[in-house]
Amino acid sequence: MVKIEHASTSVFRPAGTVEGLEELRSLVNTAIDVLAAAHTVRGGPVREGGPAAAAEAARRALAGPLLPAEPAEPATAFRELIEAYAEFSVDVTHPAAVARMQCPPTTVAAAAELVTATLNQSLHAWESGPFALELEKYVVGELTRLAGYGPGSGGTLTAGGSLSNLMALLAARDNTAARRGAGRPFQDGIAALERRPVVLCSPATHFSIGRAAGIVGIGEDAILRVPTDLVGRILPAETDRMLAELGDDVLPIALIACAGSTDEGWVDPLPELAEIARRHNVWLHADAAYGGGALFSPRLRGMLDGLAEADSITMDLHKFGWTPASSGIFLVKDADSFGPLAQQTTTLNAGDDKEAGYFGLYGTSIQATRRSDALKIAVTLRTLGRDGLAAMVDRCHDQARHAAARIAAEPRLELAAEPAFSTVLFRYLPADDRIDADAFNGALRRRLMAEGTALLARTRVPRADGSQPVFLKLMMLNPATADADLDLVIDSVLDTAAKALAEQQS
Ligand SMILES: *Cc1c(COP(=O)(O)O)cnc(C)c1O
Repeated sequence: MVKIEHASTSVFRPAGTVEGLEELRSLVNTAIDVLAAAHTVRGGPVREGGPAAAAEAARRALAGPLLPAEPAEPATAFRELIEAYAEFSVDVTHPAAVARMQCPPTTVAAAAELVTATLNQSLHAWESGPFALELEKYVVGELTRLAGYGPGSGGTLTAGGSLSNLMALLAARDNTAARRGAGRPFQDGIAALERRPVVLCSPATHFSIGRAAGIVGIGEDAILRVPTDLVGRILPAETDRMLAELGDDVLPIALIACAGSTDEGWVDPLPELAEIARRHNVWLHADAAYGGGALFSPRLRGMLDGLAEADSITMDLHKFGWTPASSGIFLVKDADSFGPLAQQTTTLNAGDDKEAGYFGLYGTSIQATRRSDALKIAVTLRTLGRDGLAAMVDRCHDQARHAAARIAAEPRLELAAEPAFSTVLFRYLPADDRIDADAFNGALRRRLMAEGTALLARTRVPRADGSQPVFLKLMMLNPATADADLDLVIDSVLDTAAKALAEQQS
């Protein structure tokens, strides 16, 4: 038998070879030193100075050509760049980093990413990653069970909630059209549909749904907003009425339910919407990108009752799940719903290969080459276990309740609502009513960022009177944060606001 050996050259030592792995070991040690030192340099959730300082740091770190003529020593090139990168990164482990849905990842997930990158498997064909393909099946299987789906369900890992929502509208469009004999939009184009497709959802639906509607050809303006109760949850009776009143020239493609809205965390009434969707023969998609984390918690999972009745579900484990992005998941109640993606035959999934067991996952994805995100997820699920994950989710919920109680007790702060899950929406109310509260809160948030004190998000909260004032948002995703740390974040908001007001008056 012919034996073929590995090779390296003096310029190129592939990371996975024996020589490459030795170099990698030393680079990882460097990386760990740099990551640890960066905490001191930052001194907070981000270095002070705002966008100008970040641009200046990049200018300095990238002063030489990014693509020099001569090869550089890997250890030096690596250290210089990662130092600058780490020092001006947002520290997602810092208690005052409460803006975005970026979780602090587990150590095993970070280590798994090293293995994933080094082995560089892909999911499009059997010869691109045999174990990675099997692992993805197990991870998807476990998540379908977590969501309450039965046998016959399926899914895929994706590059995030936005991609999962795009896949949902694609599946909804083609499955609904097929079910109603209305055409084959994937093959013939949306223009060949005899009826105008529409999507129904609440005003709180994530903007990725609007984008997805544009991309799949339904059009952003074909999204019909269903009226909600005062809290922000879609009204089933209104949903039913709107579907019943659509003209014969309209084809309702999908009903989108928020299963944890991005800002307030509210869940639309899933069991009622499922019944309505069934009756009107419309695809029900539940966007649990954020709220899906509640599934881990016996205390909170009741929020998502009815989730398993949805035809498809979006979840993001890079939010609640403590794995690095991307850890998007798209689940379908019926594994055969991938429609046109599954039917497309290319050299990647020739029939005789598939029959012999040489399968790939090209047919469940929009991508061809697709990185394996399952390893970091599998190792994190195994390490934390259900009890560990439940405790972490509950802790974030408790943090939100603590912060909300503290905010409610502060005379200069207004709380939007009691937290539904792990977000807290509030704003600072300047005593002087000549000050525009919207502009003030916007500037307050920027100042907290520029001074490197705290990272908060902002949004607008719709009111019954039609106004939409600016609110600041705390997003709890770090179970390690103590209540006392959150008090310090709120103290810093109050102090910075007082300073800003004093400056305006002088
Ligand atoms: C975060 C979020 C998304 C988008 O997910 P990405 O992973 O950021 O693309 C979609 N829907 C909801 C409800 C979300 O909270």
